Amino acid sequence: GNLAIGTLASHSALQIMHGAKKERFTTILVALRDRAWFYRDFDHLIDLIIEVNSWRDICKPEIAEELRGYNTILVPHGSFVEYVGLECGESIKVPLFGTRSLLRVEADQKLKMLLLMKAGIPTPRVYELGDDIRGPVIVKLPGAKGGKGYFIASSNSEIEAKLRKYIEDGLLRSPREAIIQEYIVGVTAYFHYFYSPVLNRLELLGADIRYESDIDGLRRLPVGILEELGIDPTFTVVGNLPLVLRESLLPRIIEYGRRFVDASRGMVSPGVIGPFCLESVIDRELNVKVFEFSGRIVAGTNLYIDGSPYSYLYWDQPVSMGRRIAIEVRLALEKGLLEKIVT
Ligand code: ATP
Repeated sequence: GNLAIGTLASHSALQIMHGAKKERFTTILVALRDRAWFYRDFDHLIDLIIEVNSWRDICKPEIAEELRGYNTILVPHGSFVEYVGLECGESIKVPLFGTRSLLRVEADQKLKMLLLMKAGIPTPRVYELGDDIRGPVIVKLPGAKGGKGYFIASSNSEIEAKLRKYIEDGLLRSPREAIIQEYIVGVTAYFHYFYSPVLNRLELLGADIRYESDIDGLRRLPVGILEELGIDPTFTVVGNLPLVLRESLLPRIIEYGRRFVDASRGMVSPGVIGPFCLESVIDRELNVKVFEFSGRIVAGTNLYIDGSPYSYLYWDQPVSMGRRIAIEVRLALEKGLLEKIVT
């Protein structure tokens, strides 16, 4: 019968619904009861809204059954990874667009860095506590949302003192849990890729910059006042800004994306499918250092609901990441290859 494309009403849901509608799929949103009104304003994009009390309700047998009843392919996004929980995400009895087993890698900072290193993608140097630290480092807490509690330091004693305080405050169990990473001075750039198992090709569909409080707001203050305030900046994402890259950077960025696809096959089966994002800092020598990845659609793609400068080159029409997902489902359906894109 007919297929539906569904997702959770958050993150990049409107883009995913818009793209699925463009490709003539039935569209289904699972929405939190108190936020459903907002999504109803877009009911021309959404055929059905299923209301739930909590995100985890999506794993309740009756909800999963309802979704299966409409032949739904569920598209995981940032809120799915963040709020549904690994156990529910891995076991949900609804087909997922993409690779289910990648969720476990995505939940583990150390596994994530391992995958990047196995891919031979340049990453910031990682230190252990007590190593000879040269230059500034960024210390990351596990499971931190929006970089809460991250701090920048330049010596072991500074790091130890701060981590001791975090343990006292119950933010951290052991200093070993913290990740100490070389701090790259440069500009951040996030690359949006789509790997198509059906066409067997990698597409670079866009790039963005995250607009983060407080780190982006602090530079509005005079340096003297900054010192006086002594704020530990957070990296809470407020939105995303568009970015087009120097064309001379593109071959390397696509090369890193290809390496990621190859290396993911060595870590999860069958390897990454569909959208993923490499998150980087680019320095003055134009070195691209990747400090993090997302193995699913990122919210920065919301910028390009009407297509990006890159997606236009591949498709010659406005294709967002959400629409690209729907195109892949349609192509897979036409060629009898659905098992290549859902897990
Ligand atoms: P998210 O889960 O939303 O992707 P997060 O909270 O896990 O983010 P990171 O993405 O790891 O945090 O980092 C938060 C911010 O810190 C980044 O957006 C970037 O601005 C900065 N950052 C992270 N690692 C480095 C690094 N090695 N050098 C310089 N800046 C960095």
